[in-house]
Amino acid sequence: MTVNLFGESQQALAEIVSEFSDKPFHARQLFSWIYSRAETDLVRMSNLPRPLRAALSERYGISHPRVELRQTSRDGTVKYLLRLEDGKAVEAVYIPEKTRVTLCISSQIGCPLGCTFCLTAKMGLVRNLTAGEIAGQVAVLAREHSLAANGYNLVFMGMGEPLNNYDEVLAAFRLLTDPQGFGIAARHVTLSTAGVVPGIRRLAREDPRPRLAVSLSATTDALRNELMPINRAYPLAELFLSLRELPLAPRETVTLEYVLLRGMNDRWEDARRLASLAGRLPLKVNLIPYNEACRDGYAATPLESARAFRDALLSRKIPASIRRRRGADISAACGQLAILDPAILEHPIPVA
Ligand code: SF4
Repeated sequence: MTVNLFGESQQALAEIVSEFSDKPFHARQLFSWIYSRAETDLVRMSNLPRPLRAALSERYGISHPRVELRQTSRDGTVKYLLRLEDGKAVEAVYIPEKTRVTLCISSQIGCPLGCTFCLTAKMGLVRNLTAGEIAGQVAVLAREHSLAANGYNLVFMGMGEPLNNYDEVLAAFRLLTDPQGFGIAARHVTLSTAGVVPGIRRLAREDPRPRLAVSLSATTDALRNELMPINRAYPLAELFLSLRELPLAPRETVTLEYVLLRGMNDRWEDARRLASLAGRLPLKVNLIPYNEACRDGYAATPLESARAFRDALLSRKIPASIRRRRGADISAACGQLAILDPAILEHPIPVA
């Protein structure tokens, strides 16, 4: 049984290689083979000396998550169930758009935050993903769709709350944005949080850091406490204060994601309150049509009402758009493949 090198940082690889070679550039070459060239066979790393390749192969290997299931939507969106080394599974989604591709990846198996409109929440937290398992989702989807480096956007919007798995998510982000690694521009990576304020504050100090999206979905603490229990720990005022403190680059915006739920958060006064919360913060609002396949008890806002909500924001100079529904027929980014998988539910931790 060999140890998987995929997910190791430059520094960790340097330590491993130093046991067999006194040339630091061998570790840099290994790093580039693993992440930039997506090579999984040490023996094929032709610019490394043969004895080094042989010595490494005895103890180490390189492997990505394995594709277990693939579901293709009528609109070209493809949802993957990926099997990990311990037998657990995770979802990642390939979303083709007019000019670019977006890959949606997961940061945890399940999620402990218990948002009431989210199917993943039903699983509770199974476990955090490692940096290798997070970057591995990108490696698999890039390979499956022959994506050129930097030819796609990446969003942490799959299963889990990325800021609750901060160290591994940031370690993966570094592998993904390292020019010798995947080489994705940091501005093409968006991390979506339910509003974990200490994580937002920590992220503000990173350079480079991903763009930030916040799943909001309510404009009063009372409703947000109900829909997204994380709000009880970090209410709206505190959340928006942390967003105002973000050192945004010129032209950088924060995205507010707002799942429209009929009769709950889609009225005119919700739009007015949302505009007032936004204030002068450079942001844009993504209105997300609710996928009724996700959880019982909620209904989607009709398109006409969604348009009226968007227009109410636009009239207050808040950039807003209705996100085109992608992969609805395969419940993309809804945790549905994985929740049907018994291996995932083997040891679930109940929703808090
Ligand atoms: S919406 Fe996101 S943060 Fe909330 S429970 Fe689902 S995966 Fe977790």
